[in-house]
Amino acid sequence: MSLNFGRTQLAIPGPSVIPERVLSAMHRASPNIYHGELVDMVTTMFPDLKAVARTKHNAAMYIANGHGSWEAALVNVLNPGDKVLVITTGRFGEFWGSVARSLGVETQILDFGLHSAIDPQKLEDVLRADTKGELKAVMTVHVDTATSVLNDIPAVRQAMDNAGHDALLMVDCIASLSCDRFEMDDWGVDVVMTGSQKGLMTPAGMSFVFFNERAAVARKRARPGNYWDWVPRTNPEIFYHQFGGTAPTHHLYGLREALTILVKEEGIEAAWKRHNTIAHAIWAAVDVWGEDGTMHHNIADPVNRSRAVSAISTIPGAAGKIRDWCEFQAGLTLGIGLGLAEPNTPQWDQQFRIGHMGHQNVAMTMSVLGSMETAMAACDIPRGEGALSAAAKVLAGHNSS
Ligand SMILES: *Cc1c(COP(=O)(O)O)cnc(C)c1O
Repeated sequence: MSLNFGRTQLAIPGPSVIPERVLSAMHRASPNIYHGELVDMVTTMFPDLKAVARTKHNAAMYIANGHGSWEAALVNVLNPGDKVLVITTGRFGEFWGSVARSLGVETQILDFGLHSAIDPQKLEDVLRADTKGELKAVMTVHVDTATSVLNDIPAVRQAMDNAGHDALLMVDCIASLSCDRFEMDDWGVDVVMTGSQKGLMTPAGMSFVFFNERAAVARKRARPGNYWDWVPRTNPEIFYHQFGGTAPTHHLYGLREALTILVKEEGIEAAWKRHNTIAHAIWAAVDVWGEDGTMHHNIADPVNRSRAVSAISTIPGAAGKIRDWCEFQAGLTLGIGLGLAEPNTPQWDQQFRIGHMGHQNVAMTMSVLGSMETAMAACDIPRGEGALSAAAKVLAGHNSS
């Protein structure tokens, strides 16, 4: 007999929970795609998207998932034969580098492993060694969703400036945007990308590339092809060209509502603060559960941890048992580990991730943690006592921090 006959909850690092208001906004007949309401509405979305990325520069929308935005960003500023530096701190940075190679771009890899953030001094040394200025771009992730590391992008910019290197700085913010503080213009980032299904609380299927004037100059020597070209998507004379064909009508209605919630009602800085408190509450619970060594954060130093996703390692078998009990008995889906162990190895069942990005509140956070506590009780997994009170204390202190 199961207790699992109620509302289910998703706590994976994307797709994230979609607000009811976003779903309702999408539930409607198809609009005219040439003029009128839809066209007017899309015009209002650019300022809000730029507010999320903290840029005054350009935004392009694509009908594509995050992988599509990786490719879009690369083909607009690079040509086959160009060389780039790919900084890796987990599986997503590696994947993005492999996309660059598939386009004929030569990649130099600077790897910091699976448990650490970027060391800016090492980056500076590598850039100084590029005396001929061959590296056209530095590519990195803000948050690597596999390891849950948060990279210090201002420190990356500083390392590039210290080395006097004028490569473009391209940052994957697919997991982090609207969750972890990110300031595209103030931090001197040239190209940024994100997807609709994480912090932006909208179904998977749209992605966004933001670029500044330096990147726009690089675009002039690139040949992105018709579909990925960001120029018509940024300043379209004809609305139809903005999406390279039919607009993603219903995604746009959903996204408009999500941006209203995020930018107009909550405000991006308040959203960062909310994610910060919720992440700290989850970490506090994990710290208590792990007092006797049952589990620990993949990223040891909280300074280097994302506020959007947490990767956790456990004693053998525990992660798999917690995940399975939550999935089949509690109605809660936790994230699998990614890139920290190979599937079907003993280490596989020692990894899991909690997604805490986007539409999240106290009730949802405590539901995730309470379900996990119950799973550990049901599966006889040893754990420290008091994890839920530790989390409650952090949440209760939200306005005093
Ligand atoms: C989710 C994610 C991606 C991939 O996005 P898809 O929509 O699955 O293609 C890329 N990079 C990061 C950091 C992500 O979190």
